Amino acid sequence: MGIIPEAEWDLDKKFLLSYFNASSKDWRDWRWQFKNRVTRPELLESLLGKTGLNAEKLKAVTSVYPMAATPYYLSLMQTPKINDPVLVQCAPDPREISSSDRAEDDPLQEDCHMPVPKLVHRYPDRCLAIVTELCAVYCRHCNRKRFWSRPNQPGLKTRFQKMIDYLAASPQIREVIISGGDPLIYDDPILEGLLASLRDIPHIEVLRIGSRVPVVMPMRVTKDLCRMLKKYRPLWFNTQFNHPAEITRDSARACHMLQEAGIPVSNQSVLLNGVNNSPEVMKKLLYNLQTISVRPYYLFHCDPARGCTHFRTNPQEGVALMEKIWSQCSGLCLPQYVLDVPGSAGKIPLNAMSKAIKNDLKKHKHFFDKFQ
Ligand SMILES: *Cc1c(COP(=O)(O)O)cnc(C)c1O
Repeated sequence: MGIIPEAEWDLDKKFLLSYFNASSKDWRDWRWQFKNRVTRPELLESLLGKTGLNAEKLKAVTSVYPMAATPYYLSLMQTPKINDPVLVQCAPDPREISSSDRAEDDPLQEDCHMPVPKLVHRYPDRCLAIVTELCAVYCRHCNRKRFWSRPNQPGLKTRFQKMIDYLAASPQIREVIISGGDPLIYDDPILEGLLASLRDIPHIEVLRIGSRVPVVMPMRVTKDLCRMLKKYRPLWFNTQFNHPAEITRDSARACHMLQEAGIPVSNQSVLLNGVNNSPEVMKKLLYNLQTISVRPYYLFHCDPARGCTHFRTNPQEGVALMEKIWSQCSGLCLPQYVLDVPGSAGKIPLNAMSKAIKNDLKKHKHFFDKFQ
């Protein structure tokens, strides 16, 4: 039984502050949020017992795939239910360690495209640097959850120097994506060190940060951080909102501060069974993203990574969902629905294969023929 009586269930900020015996000022401090992440199934059960969570079962999961959720992210839950879309993304699920899961740890074969440890080079002109395996929240659908059990191997200094040496010697690379884990778990001076060394390489024209911090720990986006990041433009920022409940005043403010520093913010969602695979939820998510000036960039078909299988939908269902959305939404709301495949083929747009487009093309054939 949870500590919150049924009728009064509301895992909001007020409740969590009194639970942690903390102040509003603590809540706004990202270090407080990080330090007080819920990482033990027992604590999650005592907070949410009524959802039917069972700590014993979850411990078997967290011994393979650890859990972490900021108090802020937990406060976004809207229902006391085990299928709440926020809880589903951060609470361990016994299906993650199902013995019938035949999926691979590394379906995109990233590990074979690392010329130096943790630098993924799959496309000629851009590279992805995994600068940490730590995150504010461990998303249960993470396609890199294979790294969670051995965080920060090798340590940042060794790994980053090797990356810099490789990048400096590879003039065809013009863009570097700083990713992880979540790079924004580092303090500003460490981050600045990374950005500055990349900026020193003349052929690196564009930097990109991939971080879910605006969604799961928006207080990390401070004035100081934005002032620092601003110096390293052109810098693009990709985050990951998956559900409209994640678009709050706090997350909108974080995105706005980045935008004010001249850093465009785009969104990469993952299509997740039970979270956003209904046209109503997806449409609301995309509309609300447009409202906070965050451009939907990709909607990823969920990768077949071990421990994530229960989040996968079938691609036909995804295409049907996107078809419904295309016909209803402004172009500025529309992400590319893509399937990532190993190697340099990369992200294959699934929307291009939709029946609606084929029919449209047929209908307007005379129009296309005119230009042939
Ligand atoms: C997705 C990805 C990129 C970036 O691809 P874009 O289509 O430019 O967003 C770069 N490197 C790797 C390894 C990736 O998986």
